[in-house]
Amino acid sequence: MPDRTKFVLDEKQMPTSWYNIIPDLPSPLAPPLHPQTDEPVGPEALAPLFPMELIKQEMSPERFIEIPEEVQAVYKTYRPSPLNRARQLERDLGLPEGVKIFYKYEGVSPAGSHKPNTAIPQAFYNKLEGIKRISTETGAGQWGSAMSIACALYDMECVVYMVGISYKQKPYRRILMESYGAEVIASPSTRTNAGRHVLDMDPDSLGSLGIAISEAVEDAVSRDDTHYCLGSVLNHVCLHQTIIGEEAIVQMEMAQVEPDVVVACVGGGSNFAGITFPYYKRRLDGKTKARLVAVEPKACPTLTAGEYRYDLGDEAGMTPKMLMYTLGHDFVPAGIHAGGLRYHGDSPLVSQLAKEGEIEAVAVHQNACFEAAVQFAKAEGILPAPESSHAIRAAIDEALDAREAGEDRTILFCLSGHGHFDLAAYEAYNSGKLQDYDFAAGSMCEGA
Ligand SMILES: *Cc1c(COP(=O)(O)O)cnc(C)c1O
Repeated sequence: MPDRTKFVLDEKQMPTSWYNIIPDLPSPLAPPLHPQTDEPVGPEALAPLFPMELIKQEMSPERFIEIPEEVQAVYKTYRPSPLNRARQLERDLGLPEGVKIFYKYEGVSPAGSHKPNTAIPQAFYNKLEGIKRISTETGAGQWGSAMSIACALYDMECVVYMVGISYKQKPYRRILMESYGAEVIASPSTRTNAGRHVLDMDPDSLGSLGIAISEAVEDAVSRDDTHYCLGSVLNHVCLHQTIIGEEAIVQMEMAQVEPDVVVACVGGGSNFAGITFPYYKRRLDGKTKARLVAVEPKACPTLTAGEYRYDLGDEAGMTPKMLMYTLGHDFVPAGIHAGGLRYHGDSPLVSQLAKEGEIEAVAVHQNACFEAAVQFAKAEGILPAPESSHAIRAAIDEALDAREAGEDRTILFCLSGHGHFDLAAYEAYNSGKLQDYDFAAGSMCEGA
């Protein structure tokens, strides 16, 4: 029986500011560099792409940044998001009383993931600056969906460059975006120099996130009425997502427990930043000792096997270079089903915390993740996104590890979204056709 303990926040208890980690970093943040000259990039260089308010947030020294009232009002249409104790999962795992699993569920948003938490303020600040049209890219379609919804709410045009292979394989996400009024273009396309260049070299190119970013950025810089939006990686995106962790802290206090470990999956790092940065602050304040654990796919193991260096954010070199863990901007990951975790780089903030030992990182195989996802779904009734299943895998492993060691442990993880648009992946798993890929081995795994 799903036996769920919910910790429900009143709207009045909702956070009214985001937490900005920049002033609390152990060492100063390295600046982004110009892709050609390698000179530090100032605010003016970003102005063709982003509204001033977001550029300010990107570099802000303020520890707390007020959430505009208009944004709070939209947040309240789906927030606060639930925090649940997974009691049935605990029982199924045979955990002793001292080992507890909690999760913060971000799948209740209209897009089914945490991404509207930043899509909404990004659309808001652009609207305020008189921008009429947003260009962006999407891999699996979650970010494009979130941005399409936000643009519809603020009555702006939205053009989404969707990675070619997903455009073909994921028609439902495309239809969702189009239903909200967005124009969805398969990338590489003939609309941009970057797209035409790729097609000249390889007319059958299936595209990549890096190529789609190049196209969306080129679209934005070539038109005065258009700005660009990014769904992860950047500091202002991580900032907006801290609403997740801020709410979780209040809800865990209601549950009268303090997590020993906080777990989230990492693609570009935004849901991880969202749930863990407020706990990082809490640790600085001496109120918790929580370990913070990032989980990534073994097929795209940026934090665990990448290099810490300056690299481009996209394929064509349209974006600034950032100091981060990277597998190289021309890395094309294997076709694993967690599309949102297939980015070559990582948030510079998350990367720096990993470099300085403030957070831990683990890498897991997709079959082990789907096994955890199905176990979770049967116990708790929620079918997780393949991305989120990485966090579930690591949370279950933490619980089993504590049981073996005979220790008490309270585990909190971020369930970043539901998997209703990922049923083809579940079908592959259910029929035993899912393959594991290993970046280190450079190929499919033995026996997988
Ligand atoms: C996009 C996405 C992710 C990965 O992005 P992050 O920026 O690393 O959070 C994870 N889970 C879901 C459900 C997503 O849509």
